[in-house]
Amino acid sequence: MDVVNILGITGREEGTITIAINVPSKRCKVKDIVKIEDRELNPQEVHKIALLAPHATINIIRGYKVVKKQEVKLPNVIESIVKCANPVCISNSNEPVRSKFYVDSEEPLLLRCHYCGYMMEKKDVLLQF
Ligand SMILES: [Zn+2]
Repeated sequence: MDVVNILGITGREEGTITIAINVPSKRCKVKDIVKIEDRELNPQEVHKIALLAPHATINIIRGYKVVKKQEVKLPNVIESIVKCANPVCISNSNEPVRSKFYVDSEEPLLLRCHYCGYMMEKKDVLLQF
């Protein structure tokens, strides 16, 4: 599963990790739930999840209690998380340029490169995770 790969979960961690996908919800047809015990997610990990599952909810569980519920939200601008798939883009050169994308659409995912205008789809992003 994509989210598991992003978080580097190997199954050997102590504590409980519950991940539920395609759970029916009122707001949208289905939603993804990721439950992780004793593990905070850094903003970069949250953004990565948002790229792949824009309606996911992340529950941090400690001692059988949900201590934090976090709705995943994709920012309008994504920096340094994914690389431009255009090989001649300046962000892929040796210049010290951070990658930067505008989120044109969440579903289907469309990211527009700030530098070359290249449109990245979900499959381009998945290749990098
Ligand atoms: Zn580019």
